[in-house]
Amino acid sequence: MAKLTFRGGAGTVTGSCYLLETDNLRLLVDSGLFQGKKELRTLNYRSPLVPLNTIDYILLTHAHIDHSGLIPRFYKNGFRGKVLATRATVELCEVMLPDSGHIQELEAEWKNRKAKRRGEKPRPPLYTAADAISCLQCFQPVSYGEDVQLDEQVRVRFLDAGHILGSAIIEVWVKENDEEIKIVFSGDLGNSGTSIVRDPFQVTAADYLLIESTYGNRLHESMVDQSEHIKEIILNTISNRGNVIIPAFAVGRTQQILYILNGMVESGELPRIPVFIDSPLAVSATKIFRDCRECYNQESLWLLRKGDDPFYFPGLKCVRSADESRALNHYKGGAVIISASGMCDAGRIKHHLKHNLWRPESAVIFIGFQAEGTLGRRILDGTKKVKIMGELINVAAKIYSLQGFSAHADQSGLLNWVSGFTQKPRRIFIVHGEASESAALAELITKETAIATSIPKFSEEYLIKSTQPEYIGITEPLTVRALDKRQQLLTAIGRLESRISGLKNGILAEGYEDEEIRELDEAIQELEERITLP
Ligand SMILES: [Zn+2]
Repeated sequence: MAKLTFRGGAGTVTGSCYLLETDNLRLLVDSGLFQGKKELRTLNYRSPLVPLNTIDYILLTHAHIDHSGLIPRFYKNGFRGKVLATRATVELCEVMLPDSGHIQELEAEWKNRKAKRRGEKPRPPLYTAADAISCLQCFQPVSYGEDVQLDEQVRVRFLDAGHILGSAIIEVWVKENDEEIKIVFSGDLGNSGTSIVRDPFQVTAADYLLIESTYGNRLHESMVDQSEHIKEIILNTISNRGNVIIPAFAVGRTQQILYILNGMVESGELPRIPVFIDSPLAVSATKIFRDCRECYNQESLWLLRKGDDPFYFPGLKCVRSADESRALNHYKGGAVIISASGMCDAGRIKHHLKHNLWRPESAVIFIGFQAEGTLGRRILDGTKKVKIMGELINVAAKIYSLQGFSAHADQSGLLNWVSGFTQKPRRIFIVHGEASESAALAELITKETAIATSIPKFSEEYLIKSTQPEYIGITEPLTVRALDKRQQLLTAIGRLESRISGLKNGILAEGYEDEEIRELDEAIQELEERITLP
């Protein structure tokens, strides 16, 4: 009998990983990196319960690192099965996973420098860029709508999820005796009516559904107003001789912005101005977006037929080398610079903020979520001075936040999609969301559709039957839950004390880094959670 275990993306938006075991196969849907709090990041070092060399397939919904980022580590530790994904996802992983490996190497290097000063042993990175390149040989492209038979018992099909280029909803059919059970994994579901990609495919039947809930409790602003707003900000800033800085995720958000700017420049709403994409990953990803036309929606195809490249317009320049990037520091006005990382905590965007934040004539437009503890969040929260690469910078530029560009369906989008099922699932598992978002969506779905819902915890395991799922239990609880309250408090206080003394020493020696503030912030949050009485 098939068994489903929630190994990630349960109670959190990162680390998506679901283990499905049938009579003869073991498969994972997604193998994502856990990001954010330290408690989550330590989960990156765990294996998915079963020996990695016994996993036959990884079915990958899309290329985002919180869905794909642990594949290189699994490969490094013995996984030799196949990774099935759409062509666009495979191509995006070819640039994103080595980039992620490179980031892991840099992080390990930085941590090991600190560890050495404390007299501790160095630790290897989670995986390297070379590990990531090696794992790519396991990838095998599948087409949208193609029936793929994995063995006599299991077949799968990928359908467009409308989230980013190549993103997929995955349907899995498991045959047992004379019955067939269908499980649908929503992956990250897109926002209807966005640029470039199609709307999410409406699946109409399932026995079981796992649905994401990133925005299970929120509604998005309208995209049309956002584009108008961007145009106004650019025109005003340029007439004031300032630069417009747009921090953006290299894959997805950058291309969305390019698409919008393309429309404005081609139609003459914006004059021809220099627009720079300053991120090697974004430049590579844009090339893949340009190639994978099978993922385009009608509007993008129409642009192509007219002879317009949706990701290129007069004035656009792609910046790859560090020298070219540095040259942008001398641009005093009239340019739009799109750079990564989207939350400003790494990458070349830091240079551009350093050279523009202090200038009242410049503008910064945030178009994506800014997590707590990041430089982006501090700027957005109105901090008057921020430390960037060891230098205190005055925040005088105009700061804007446009939040209508989400690549995720909002609450009403998710509910509409669930309501489109004519054969209602027996149970919906609400995954990939913070606790409050998942709870709100679960309540709404049950109220509006009368379908039973569960919000699985990390490592919860179910037998998947044709009647109802049978809850087995939690196979491997998080160790922190096993500790008693007193021990949890002592551990959290100990961590906070060491962070405070580390930061204090750093401040006295004038050698502290942003990462240390982030770690202190995490330790404070952890303690706050522990002292919250039920
Ligand atoms: Zn995603």
